[in-house]
Amino acid sequence: MFPEYDVIVVGGGHAGCEAAHAAAKMGNSVLLCTMNMNTIAQMSCNPAIGGVAKGQIVREIDALGGMTGIISDKSMIQFRMLNRSKGPAMWSPRSQNDRMRFAEEWRLALEGTPGVDFWQEMISGLVVEDKRVVGVKTGIGLEIKAKSVVLTNGTFLNGLIHIGEKQFGGGRTGEAAAKGITEQLVDLGFEAGRMKTGTPPRVDGRSLDYSKMEVQYGDEKPEKFSFSDETSTLKEQRTCWITYTNKEVHETLETGFDRSPMFNGRIQGLGPRYCPSIEDKINRFAERDRHQIFVEPEGWDTVEIYVNGFSTSLPEDVQYKAIRKIAGFENCKMFRPGYAIEYDFFPPTQLKLTLETQLVENLFFAGQINGTTGYEEAGCQGLIAGINAARKVQEESPFLLKRSDAYIGVLIDDLINKGTEEPYRMFTSRAEFRLLLRQDNADLRLTELGHSIGLASDERLEKMLDKKNDTAKLINDLKQKKLSPESINSGLEEKDTATIKEKITVEKLLKRPQLGLTSIKKLDPDIDQYLSKYPQEVLDQAEIQIKYNSYIEKEKQMVEKLNSMENFKIPSSFDYLAIPALSAEGKQKLHKIRPETLGQASRISGVSPADLSILTVYLGR
Ligand code: FAD
Repeated sequence: MFPEYDVIVVGGGHAGCEAAHAAAKMGNSVLLCTMNMNTIAQMSCNPAIGGVAKGQIVREIDALGGMTGIISDKSMIQFRMLNRSKGPAMWSPRSQNDRMRFAEEWRLALEGTPGVDFWQEMISGLVVEDKRVVGVKTGIGLEIKAKSVVLTNGTFLNGLIHIGEKQFGGGRTGEAAAKGITEQLVDLGFEAGRMKTGTPPRVDGRSLDYSKMEVQYGDEKPEKFSFSDETSTLKEQRTCWITYTNKEVHETLETGFDRSPMFNGRIQGLGPRYCPSIEDKINRFAERDRHQIFVEPEGWDTVEIYVNGFSTSLPEDVQYKAIRKIAGFENCKMFRPGYAIEYDFFPPTQLKLTLETQLVENLFFAGQINGTTGYEEAGCQGLIAGINAARKVQEESPFLLKRSDAYIGVLIDDLINKGTEEPYRMFTSRAEFRLLLRQDNADLRLTELGHSIGLASDERLEKMLDKKNDTAKLINDLKQKKLSPESINSGLEEKDTATIKEKITVEKLLKRPQLGLTSIKKLDPDIDQYLSKYPQEVLDQAEIQIKYNSYIEKEKQMVEKLNSMENFKIPSSFDYLAIPALSAEGKQKLHKIRPETLGQASRISGVSPADLSILTVYLGR
């Protein structure tokens, strides 16, 4: 009934979709096995993509030839560039999305990708021979052969849903939990753990009084995620709103604390610290008498509203009473209560940097199964696992991104070397080279790499090269073009020009913190005309590169230093246990994680600087 596939992807969530698309695009035969084809790319929680550090990841996925950016653009209902008032390293694109359209666009994209077959069923186990995966077993007893398998089970492995004192099995509300895979992997020697996450109630937008809330509009000039021309920016946007909890809401919620699975010990798994439930917030920040609530539409044509900031697993009657005490929610009708979910994950220190498991060859893990949280974190892992599964089948070298290449590199390096005890989400603070890893230059950093492995198209490469060349030319020209003090002084406020006494190049003028190309072009019609030849993204790029040049150069030097360690390979057979001088913890961690380079070894928590110098001596560096 089935051929032998190159790659089987288990799970049609954000990780699974990227994995299946990438592997097929790279010329492999792919079978996407998922429990329910109607929930492909379901947004389990908020209908939004991107945000701080996550928006950068989406742009990186896009630059490499992945799909999350394109799908987000096609299903977007509002766009905002967060942190615009801060430096460009912090600018983070975020979209509000139409939940149903997002899922539909992903399904259409996969159906339109040659090489992707589908099978709707629960996968109950793997077929493993001599520590190598050779296929999967399905719930109705079929065996499907494959050269490699990518597991992306999300929150479904032994998922347990909690609402107050009620608890029942499920991978998401209304969907069954996946059984069998954890148990088999543990038998094979894998370590498994338990985590939890939660989601707020969904409500009927027709029952809300928006006049009592603050309006939150999208950007006046919305941008988009994808660098490609496949999508365009929004012409029209939906508004969101902001409201607040109050003392009465908190007191009502507290009446349910004795029935809360969070507080009475029924939930064992650790939840995301930075995305706490409302009961957690009240408990931890008792001094605060209000918390912000974002009121977000779930799509263009639906009245369903996502109550962002009100994630809870309190009993449904308490949720209902409390939510109606929020300003604007007095007559609120609930579509469904919030809930918490506990699920199995596998500590990611059991993986290689390719996301292949160390214990079973050709078996890859991606997404929430690795202890992460978030669509973007899942999507980028799916992409890397899909690429590497495909390359392993094709006997090509591993595809790895360094910490200095991309947030994706930071994420995978953190997971593999440090592991995670609570759901891992990306922050800009996790990236030491964040001035290099900006959202605006993801294409310049990664398109060539994506193209070299057969994922990013020729058009993408050409577009990126045009942007790169145009930016270089523009920067060069701005170093020559000069403005007279008269035109500057007559056009700019005094505080900007106090020290300008003689002709100055546009490049030098741009280095002043308060000046940008938008204000400079108003000073001189010739410059205005010259700049109007360039697209906005080239103008932005040139401005950022000129303004932050000295900081960017400093980070580049640091990267060069790091790369010398990064390029020093450690043989895979290296016997750490045979080096008595290594610390006990360092020895154990190195033996377990088996770093591929000295650079990777230096980032493993528990490996001390002393361990590193001992290693350096033994490796003869
Ligand atoms: P998922 O999107 O969960 O997809 C898993 C897929 O695998 C599903 O299609 C499922 O049907 C399929 N599947 C599983 N097991 C099998 C099997 N054995 N056989 C066949 N198919 C299988 N993220 C945040 O960033 N912030 C939040 O606040 C947040 N809250 C959340 C609240 C809830 C209740 C849930 C469920 C998730 C929440 N998330 C949140 C997490 C976010 O949804 C995930 O990080 C993201 O969806 C993970 O993507 P994934 O591809 O790893 O898994």
